[in-house]
Amino acid sequence: MYDSPIYVSGHNGLVGSAIARRLRADGAKHLLLRTHRELDLRRQADVERFFAEHRPQYVFLAAAKVGGIEANRSHPAQFLRDNLQIQTNIIDAAQRFGTRKLLFLGSSCIYPRLAPQPMPEDSLLTGALEPTNQWYAIAKIAGLKMCQAYRREFSFDAICAMPTNLYGPGDNFSLVDSHVLPALIRKYHEAKLKMAAAVEVWGSGTPRREFLHVDDLADACVFLMQKYSDEAPLNVGWGKDVSIAELAQLVADTVGFKGEVRFDRSKPDGTPRKLLDTSRLSALGWQPKITLAAGLASTYEWFCAHQEHLRR
Ligand code: GDP
Repeated sequence: MYDSPIYVSGHNGLVGSAIARRLRADGAKHLLLRTHRELDLRRQADVERFFAEHRPQYVFLAAAKVGGIEANRSHPAQFLRDNLQIQTNIIDAAQRFGTRKLLFLGSSCIYPRLAPQPMPEDSLLTGALEPTNQWYAIAKIAGLKMCQAYRREFSFDAICAMPTNLYGPGDNFSLVDSHVLPALIRKYHEAKLKMAAAVEVWGSGTPRREFLHVDDLADACVFLMQKYSDEAPLNVGWGKDVSIAELAQLVADTVGFKGEVRFDRSKPDGTPRKLLDTSRLSALGWQPKITLAAGLASTYEWFCAHQEHLRR
């Protein structure tokens, strides 16, 4: 794989940047990377032209329109449209222009809101989705099904990984449209600087979420690209979850904020629990390594060192 052209789509995002970092460190000789400006993945003709010209042999489909609970709620059309367009254009062009293997990245929100916990891959489409992120979830389910359909009809080697909530360097630390972990790092950091009495955390604090460091995900993606070839999606997670209240305390400890936490119950909780069953991936011999405490500490360091690049 490392001698062939490898396309990492979305290489400026949290996931894509981690995969590109990892492939570079492994000595990949021919990485293909395009910014959003250079290649708008929502435009089919542009994507086809790119594939026709560069013929990537391996494709990591990490490009997506992503965001936290508030972003999903306020931009349902963009989450549905952009993700459908991006993934459809890439999967189709990859198959038609001779890509040997493609890895599609989904999300744990594809599973039903009230799926058994931890959520096995087989719980897909067994119940209603969480309404706050249904638009994103429907697009990701369509992407997964497209990979399965292209494998069946065209013998295209497309595989799917479903990561849990991710965090790490390069994350979106916006207060409005980010996910909870980076949002809390920023809120606690700013509260510490201002010597504020309290930090506001959305919802009741009781929802439970699982967090995986994005470097662990990149490791899993490279592992799967080399070792896995089947239509069944594979969950990628840490294996344990924490409540949002526990996460807030961990972030407070990491940042060194000594004030109080205030829960803003006017904000949505979203799905009550989202823990992935990762037994299939474990059985293949892969395990994550970066603990939440260690990952939070290094992500906070990254945040402090990159203040000028943060998205607002
Ligand atoms: P989800 O996993 O799709 O629900 O997305 P998020 O990561 O945005 O939210 C996870 C949970 O954290 C929800 O219960 C939010 O209400 C809660 N939460 C608490 N404070 C924040 C915050 O400042 N930003 C975000 N995005 N979520 C928060």
